[in-house]
Amino acid sequence: MIDPYEHIRQNLDIEEVARRYGLEVNRHHKALCLWHADSHPSLSFKKGRYRCFACGASGTALDIVMKLFDLEPLESVKKLNADFGLGLDFKGEYRPDTAKIQEMERQKQLQKAFSD
Ligand SMILES: [Zn+2]
Repeated sequence: MIDPYEHIRQNLDIEEVARRYGLEVNRHHKALCLWHADSHPSLSFKKGRYRCFACGASGTALDIVMKLFDLEPLESVKKLNADFGLGLDFKGEYRPDTAKIQEMERQKQLQKAFSD
């Protein structure tokens, strides 16, 4: 069975997600931070993650959707699935422990992002 979080990570470009939902990503791959009152773009996109050099916020496309639309993780997955036509089927029996999966994903990504 497909892990929707993994599926999203592999199939969506975080900058494209950010732009689609109204963030202005400049040619330096930066945008205004959603997590603090930002006047210069501090939010930087790299390898499918964002990181703010001013306030330290970091995460994935999913976190951006959760923040922008005030949604739970699974609801955010469903929104991305609908808006980007990912073709994930939520009528099946997939019942994720969303908090746990997200935390695992976060740790994995953090390790990856800072290991090279
Ligand atoms: Zn910030």
